Order: sequence, then structure tokens, then C-alpha cells
Amino acid sequence: VNVAIDGEPVFFGYEPDETLTIIPIWDTLGLRATRSQLLAFDETLLKDSHRATNPPGRFNAINAGLSNISIGVAQAALDALIDHARNRAISGRPLSHQQWVQYEVADVEIKLTAVKAATRRALRLADLGDPASFAAIDRAKYLANKVAVEIAQLGVRIGGASGFLRGSPIQRHLRDAQAGQLMAYSTEVIAGQVGKLVLGVDEESARAEREGDRP
Ligand SMILES: Cc1cc2nc3c(=O)[nH]c(=O)nc-3n(C[C@H](O)[C@H](O)[C@H](O)COP(=O)(O)OP(=O)(O)OC[C@H]3O[C@@H](n4cnc5c(N)ncnc54)[C@H](O)[C@@H]3O)c2cc1C
Repeated sequence: VNVAIDGEPVFFGYEPDETLTIIPIWDTLGLRATRSQLLAFDETLLKDSHRATNPPGRFNAINAGLSNISIGVAQAALDALIDHARNRAISGRPLSHQQWVQYEVADVEIKLTAVKAATRRALRLADLGDPASFAAIDRAKYLANKVAVEIAQLGVRIGGASGFLRGSPIQRHLRDAQAGQLMAYSTEVIAGQVGKLVLGVDEESARAEREGDRP
């Protein structure tokens, strides 16, 4: 259980008892192999003896794996659309011989290569215990989420109507890719943080407040 104590997140181990209710909402459109339960706690006691601690100098890079979920979806989507493009013949030639397909596939393959590199760098920083890994992991997740959606959407274009059938892996990749953007931190939340940082918005607000421009 993750709770805020004095504004700081703290994890507690917890053995389910009668104070816990599981609310069965989890019937999702995508990433259906993941399991995420809505839990309700009623007067639950979190024991100090079950409070999780990090070894000195270490931190919890809990979000480190999220980028790889989207990379997996993106790679599966790319593999599926390549397979379709090579095996679907239109006017006597495989779809892969059409120039628009080649250009679009090159574009997403190059982006996916960049996502993998960004993720590897972020995980390396986490392994080194460098706090800069948090910002790097968030950026890698953002990129992976977006690129996965882009590749999955290209899959739908290349797949035509057959990719839109429920039995096709292509439609599943589209649903799975979309879910990555929602998982915390969502692409909007990350974009908000990075955008403010890049534009120096918080510094400007702090300065305005110091100088009495704000109530
Ligand atoms: C497949 C999947 C697996 C998940 N697994 C887990 C899990 O294992 N553990 C867990 O705890 N949760 C899990 N979640 C839930 C996930 O953490 C939340 O969906 C996520 O934090 C967004 O919260 P929300 O769904 O309440 O959306 P809301 O907070 O209601 O957001 C609605 C919209 O507003 C945007 N938004 C929200 N806050 C801001 C902000 N500050 N700035 C800009 N935009 C904002 C969001 O990006 C979104 O577009 C999972 C979700 C999915 C889809």
C-alpha cells in the first residue's frame, strides 16, 4: 500500500483482512493481461513493522519498467504490420513494395530504435543509482507510449479491413498501445511537467511571487 505521510509517499506491506474490499472493475479495453484492482480500505491499520525502507543511498525506481511495456507492444505491432505488408498482394505485388508503406515503416522503425536507446539509457542511470534516472525514465515512457500508438495506428492503415477484425493481432495492438499512455504517469502529466521545466514556468511563477506580482 502506498500512502502519503507528511506529503511523502511511503510503502507498507499489508496482509489482507476484513478491512479490505476488492471492487471488481477491471474489465479493460487493452493490456488485458495486466491486473489492477480497485481496493477500498476501511479503518485499516498500517503497521510500522511493515513499513518498507530503501537501503541507504538507494531509491525505488518503481516506474522503470513502464517504458518496456509499450516497447513490447510497439515491437509486436511492427512485426505484425511487416508480416501483413509482405504477405498481402495488391495488383500482383506485395503491399511492402508500395513506396508509402516503405517510407512509413522506415519512420516508425527509426523512432522505435530511438525509444529503445532512451530506455536503455534511463535504466542504466537507475542501475547507477543516479536520481537523474527519474526524469530519463519519464521521458522514455512518454516516447515509448507515443511511438507504440503511432506504430499501432500504422498497422491499422496497412492492415486494411482485415486488421480491423476482432481476430487480428493488429486491432489488439491498437488497444494495448492506447493503454500505455494512461498508465501513470500519463503522457499528459509527463508533458505538463517537462513542458513547465523546459519553459521555466515554475521559476517565473516563483520569481513573480517573490516580487509581489501575485497575491
Ligand atoms: C492498463 C492499465 C494498468 C494500470 N495499472 C495500474 C497499477 O498497476 N497500479 C495503479 O496504481 N494504477 C494502475 N493504473 C491506473 C493508472 O495509474 C491511472 O489510470 C492513471 O494514474 C491516470 O489516472 P486516472 O485513470 O484516474 O485518470 P485521471 O486522473 O482522471 O485523468 C484523466 C485525464 O486527465 C489527464 N490528467 C490527469 N492529471 C493531470 C495533470 N496533473 N496534468 C495534466 N493532465 C492530467 C490524464 O492524463 C487523462 O488524460 C492502470 C491503468 C491502466 C489503463
